[in-house]
Amino acid sequence: MVELRSYLAGQWNSGSGDDITLFNPADASSYATVRRAGGLAHALAYARSTAGPTLRELTFAQRGACLEAMAKTIHGEREALIAIAIANGGNTRGDAKFDIDGATAVLATYAEIARDLGDTKWLVEDEPHALFHGAKLRAQHIRLPRHGVAIHINAFNFPAWGMIGKAAVSLLAGMPVLTKPGTSSAALAHRIVELLVEQQVLPAGALQLLMGPAGDLLEHTCPQDVVAFTGSAATGRRIRTHDRVIEAGVRVNVEADSLNAVVIGPDVARGSELFDALVRDCTVEITQKAGQKCTAIRRIIAPLTLIEDLREVLVERLEDMAAKTGDPADQANRMGPLATAQQLADAREGVRQLATRAKRMYGDLERTDFRGEATQRGYFLEPLLFQASPEAAADPSAPFHNTEVFGPVATLLPYDGSAEQAAQLVAAGGGSLVSTVYSDDRAFVLHTICNAGPHLGRLVVAQEKMARASLPPGGVFAVANHGGPGRAGGGEELGGRHGLALYTQRLALQTAGSQLARLVGG
Ligand code: NAP
Repeated sequence: MVELRSYLAGQWNSGSGDDITLFNPADASSYATVRRAGGLAHALAYARSTAGPTLRELTFAQRGACLEAMAKTIHGEREALIAIAIANGGNTRGDAKFDIDGATAVLATYAEIARDLGDTKWLVEDEPHALFHGAKLRAQHIRLPRHGVAIHINAFNFPAWGMIGKAAVSLLAGMPVLTKPGTSSAALAHRIVELLVEQQVLPAGALQLLMGPAGDLLEHTCPQDVVAFTGSAATGRRIRTHDRVIEAGVRVNVEADSLNAVVIGPDVARGSELFDALVRDCTVEITQKAGQKCTAIRRIIAPLTLIEDLREVLVERLEDMAAKTGDPADQANRMGPLATAQQLADAREGVRQLATRAKRMYGDLERTDFRGEATQRGYFLEPLLFQASPEAAADPSAPFHNTEVFGPVATLLPYDGSAEQAAQLVAAGGGSLVSTVYSDDRAFVLHTICNAGPHLGRLVVAQEKMARASLPPGGVFAVANHGGPGRAGGGEELGGRHGLALYTQRLALQTAGSQLARLVGG
């Protein structure tokens, strides 16, 4: 079996202790092993002393050239990477492309931003402002790369996009990266780093890889470091409250659970293109990556007048997907398994909780006959659809507003058709990454923006005229903010140039206007 090693301080490191096994979730066969790596204090110090200064010497344009080289390297091995995502991640080919091409796309977007920023090494945020009326002294804000390490701790569900999305922004900002993938699906992240090391596309120490558990990593953090975490709210809490992280005032960004809700306006009718678009979006977001997406649709807020029609059509689509669930290596299958036995157990437990307040409309929790050989040993769950009563839907303590079932599961929530109630139901999720509002009613949409918007990081507005071209809410683009308030972790990532804020320090430069012009060029 393949042993996957960490890459720390310029060396491949086998680690020590017991083997941790990575599986193929389609048949539970062993795929690879990793071991716990030591020497993490040294690895962080190495990045701070070698790659940090080197990256900061480069201009944005030069750092962008590194991102372009990364994109080219990853794209050049696309087919081999897809095969790994299928075998270790349980991805269908479509799921794998979504992850891997997503990684390449983020690199391309940030390379373009780098070209726009050109031959500069810091960001100028604004124009100089007089300190007070009539003063010659001015203040101007610039952003400088932090002198630490960007420590990236990622979830299992996007080993390529999750790792590369964070790395692209840090490297462009001028910070070296130590990245730790979620262990269960880490083979893809490992191969990507291996390729980037082989091709020498980055300065020494700019990208280190920690396989297996985080160990004592956070004990060695310094005030200039940044920890960017993606994963469950429980782990996020542990990281935020880590003694050393608090003591050193390490900057922390958390991307955590999210109970994303889409809102269907009272004007949407069965048979319209907007209705078709919302059915398509719901089907994609429930089943892509077997629902293991932080941006997946978990709650579908539909007017009482439409809910029966919507359920009927959605059940048909999910039936079709359920019939095509099985071995992801077979391209005829449209949905694969969950990532691990634990994820399957957790998802089943979550479904049981949903069932206490909502009625199951489609899906068999105990089904084991999926398509393909040996799939009865795999971690499959067929799509499940629930529906709540209007009274249960309005109860913020109900499980569908509080429990993220990380699998192909969603709940229909009826509402009275008013924008007020729709926004209340969105807010009951306690803060989410993304929503779509489907409506051509301008007043309804504006109310949703103003009242559901503060509970979200991103809002897609889908209208009849553009329904065919609209994209499901789960597609994250590097130019748009990714992150959400409250339960979603309170983090912000990507968002084009905004993303650089996490890895840079804002400095207010205060001096005479003429001096500012000389120093900053403003
Ligand atoms: P998880 O169990 O919290 O693990 C996330 C990462 O944290 C893994 O790399 C894990 O390592 C590591 N970790 C665990 N305990 C740690 C500790 N004490 N100190 C430092 N690191 C630690 O989450 P997951 O099961 O991988 O991912 C599923 C969750 O992620 C879902 O809740 C989903 O909503 C969320 N998610 C959110 C976003 C977003 O952008 N908001 C995106 C994707 C996923 P090991 O794997 O080695 O245990």
